[in-house]
Order: sequence, then C-alpha cells, then structure tokens
Amino acid sequence: MAGLYFHIPYCTQRCVYCDFYFVTTRKVHTPFVQAIRNEIEGYATEYANYEPIGTLYFGGGTPSLLLPEELESILSTVHEHFDTSQVEEVTFEVNPEDASLEYLRDIKSLGVDRLSIGIQSFFDDDLTFLGRCHDSKSAQNAIKNSEKAGFEKRSIDLIFGLPDQTENQWAMNLELACEMDIPHISTYGLTIEEKTPLWKQVQLGNVIPVDEETHSELFQMAMDTLQKSEYEHYEISSFARRGYRSVHNHRYWSHVNYIGFGPSAHSFWWRGLPARRWSNVRNLNRYQAFLGDHVRPIDEQENLSLDALAREYIMLRLRTSEGLDLKILEERYGVDLLTCKIDELALLESSEFILTIRNQKVILSDLGKTICNSVTQRLLPD
Ligand code: SF4
Repeated sequence: MAGLYFHIPYCTQRCVYCDFYFVTTRKVHTPFVQAIRNEIEGYATEYANYEPIGTLYFGGGTPSLLLPEELESILSTVHEHFDTSQVEEVTFEVNPEDASLEYLRDIKSLGVDRLSIGIQSFFDDDLTFLGRCHDSKSAQNAIKNSEKAGFEKRSIDLIFGLPDQTENQWAMNLELACEMDIPHISTYGLTIEEKTPLWKQVQLGNVIPVDEETHSELFQMAMDTLQKSEYEHYEISSFARRGYRSVHNHRYWSHVNYIGFGPSAHSFWWRGLPARRWSNVRNLNRYQAFLGDHVRPIDEQENLSLDALAREYIMLRLRTSEGLDLKILEERYGVDLLTCKIDELALLESSEFILTIRNQKVILSDLGKTICNSVTQRLLPD
C-alpha cells in the first residue's frame, strides 16, 4: 500500500534552524488548496489504480494553519480519487500555538487519528533561542488538549544539543515527556543547516555549536531515559510505547511507494526498474501557476538503479531496530553483504558497533547508534 504526503507550506514565523520550504506571508490559502486538489486529481489518473493507500501524512510548514474546512476539502479530494478504504493512519503535524481543543476536535472529526506536536522543548529559553512561536505553557496545554480531544496516537518532537541547553534541561525535557505519558517521542540533535539564520550566526561567531561528543552523550541520555520508561527505540530518532510506532515512517524505511503533494514535496515510485524519485518546485507561486495550468510542478527527478536502491535500503534499514535484513538485501537488491563486506562486518561487530544475528540481520548496538552515519558509510557497497 502506498503513502501520501502533503506539504502545507505556511508558518507563522521562521524558526532559526529550519531549512524546510515555507512562506510566512500568506493568510489566504484558497489558491493553494485549489492547486493541491488539482495535483491530487492529476496523480490519481496515473497512480490510483496501482495500489490502495495505507497512510496519509500532513507535514510542513505548519499544517495546523489550515482551517478545518480547507483540510476537509483536501481530504475529500483524496477520498474521491484514491482507494482509501484501507488507510491505517492519518498523521497531522500541529504546532502548540494552534492546538486549541476546538481545532483538535475538528480535525479529529475529519479523520485525523495521529498528532505530531512540534514541542521541541519545555523550556522558554530554548524556545526563544530556536525562534519558536510558542512557550512552555502552550506546549503543555497542547499535549493536554490532544488528550482531551481523544487522540490516542500522539507524538512530540524534542530537540537536543542547543548551545546553551544544560544537561539537566535535556534530562527534564525527557522526564516531563515520560510523565505526560506521550506514546511516541521523536528526538533530534540540533543541526546547523546551510543558509539558515542559525547558520549565519555560527558563521559570524555569535553561536558556538555543541561538539559531536556532547551530541552523542545527550543522545545516549535520551536512549537510557526513554528505554527505562518502556519506550522502544525503533528508529534512530523515534521512540514509541508498544503499539504506537508511526506506520507512515515505518513504510518509508522499507521502500514503500509514496507520492508527495505541495511545494518541495518528494515522491518515490518503484514498479520495475528504474525506480523514480522526484521533487516539486520550492516556490508557492510557481507551484500554484503550474497546477493552474494542470501541469505537474516537478523541479527535479532521477531514475534509481538497483545499486542506488540497495545503498539507500542499507542506509534506511540500519536506522531501524529491526535492522538490515541481509536475505532481503540479496534477494531484492542483489547485494551479498556477507561476501562484499565481510571484513567490515567482523570489525564492526568486534568493536560492538553492530550485532549480526545468525548471519541474517545487521542491527546497530546503542553504541553504534551514536555514530550511525559512519557505521553506515562503512557498510555501503563500493
Ligand atoms: S514551524 Fe516548522 S516548518 Fe515552520 S519554520 Fe518552524 S521548524 Fe520550520
């Protein structure tokens, strides 16, 4: 079953670390909603007959800046043109400042059944540094409202590794999340993305990023705290209580097909070789203009060979707790890692970065997870 992703390109203000595509200027969303509906209809004519839809995901930007009636209009177009009879999960990203009880009840009544709340931190000084619109109180209120509105599947994002964030603050963020009994937590180390306001401050020497060792220690703290509180660490950035893993993301890590709608959205489709990946233009006006003429707003596309897919599969699977299935890698992607990387596998195992299970699976140890990218690089076929 395929996934559908919707990029809602609006934000109230710019967070200093963010390099996603968004605009902060529009109050009227009507042309965008019409454009995304055209895009949905256009793709449905080519793709809807191949597979039913398994998951929907609204990200951004800030989906919670959509009015309920705008969301309804997008969803009704999806239901009209795709087979949504088997949808298992509809995730919607919400920023705390938008998460009134009334709004959350409205979107629930439209079929949203999983919330991803952009908390980032429960400390006001962290939130101010990050340029977030909300404060600690509204973060906690958003969580309470999500519970009152009847959302069982709730996730929050938390960021670590801010220059002035103390270890104690990070520990308290994690403890508070556990106390509030949030079933899914995503943790991200702050990264300095090029051309963001934060990157500029780093270039000017006004902000000193934390070093890699501190990042690893804070990440280790997250693993220790959350695993003690019975969260499964099922992907590098994702922790879930039993039964609360993200279905949409889980499928993405298994090379399931998905179509992305909205400016800057990415799509992946694999039905015979080569597989295709494409991305939309990162400009709302151009996106709307293309779709006004019923033209696909594609900016870049690439064909992926089996070798490229194999490398990607290794990268994606090593991030997961199920690990890299060597049999699938050989049968589906034609790569026999036990032959081509036998020395690296032995070395990584003896250094306790990975576990290999009966020569069938490679799984990162907690130590390996702290240097996931470098372990992955060592296992990619030449
Ligand atoms: S709200 Fe999200 S998408 Fe918008 S600027 Fe902040 S981090 Fe980026």
